[in-house]
Amino acid sequence: MLCTEVSRSVFARECLKKTPRTRARHIYNNMVSDFHNDLLTFCEQPDLSLLKQASPCVCAVYGGGRTFEQVRTIVHCFFANRKKGMYLSLEDASWLNDENIGEVCSWRPVCVSLTHNRDNKLAGGCMDGGGLTERGKRMVRVLAQEGIFIDCAHLSGQSMAQVLSLAPAVNSHTCFNAVYPHFRNIGDALAKEILDGGGMIGITFVGKFLTGGKADAQDVFRHADHAVQKFGIGGFCFGSDFFGTDDLPAGVRNFEEEEKMRSLFFGAGYSVADTERLFRVNLQNFLAKNCR
Ligand SMILES: [Zn+2]
Repeated sequence: MLCTEVSRSVFARECLKKTPRTRARHIYNNMVSDFHNDLLTFCEQPDLSLLKQASPCVCAVYGGGRTFEQVRTIVHCFFANRKKGMYLSLEDASWLNDENIGEVCSWRPVCVSLTHNRDNKLAGGCMDGGGLTERGKRMVRVLAQEGIFIDCAHLSGQSMAQVLSLAPAVNSHTCFNAVYPHFRNIGDALAKEILDGGGMIGITFVGKFLTGGKADAQDVFRHADHAVQKFGIGGFCFGSDFFGTDDLPAGVRNFEEEEKMRSLFFGAGYSVADTERLFRVNLQNFLAKNCR
């Protein structure tokens, strides 16, 4: 259990009032890693036994209309209760400004995403298409100087390109336009720029990004295999979006099912070592190299 009695009430008050998503219940011997989930954002009583299945595990705190003070409260609860292998990221940092960025950097998030689909005071979202604002550019430069990656998930193509001209970036949860075109998915040219800059890309499990409708584990494989065939395996991992979406593919609805998905890769001729890199080791190495 993440929270003490006191901090649990903090979560109850501060977290969005949404029903906790499906949770994996079984302990698995093998492990996966996860570049993006909303274990903290949407679960009032996060089930940290999940870290026995997913570690390292990057847990996002979603801005979602919260004030900076509300985000800070959740982050402090995270620090008070964090477990080994658990990392912080920030999603939709629309509250970020010149006054609070120093404190945000001191939290040492793995990455910070500037928007959540729509344009805001920092950047253009993928549904609106705008570019970085002057404030957004300043924030990107400061975060980059501190070694904190910009997360391009949810940014417009224009804003992604601008971010990449200023700073190293990642995309913690996306699929590929080359496999299924969607405004939340990334094009191969921008993916290459992220990888060339030392970034990591997490392939996500959201059905509408995978296929536009119903999806299953094979669709996740198709996107992952595209990435690997095009760019090599070293820059990719999975960013599940577990607890942040109800649109999960059949057979990939929790960390236990994700682990079972390895058989698809073995069946397609992937070696055990390469499959392990994709499911766990690439993200583990990325975090070991880049996070302090
Ligand atoms: Zn997201």
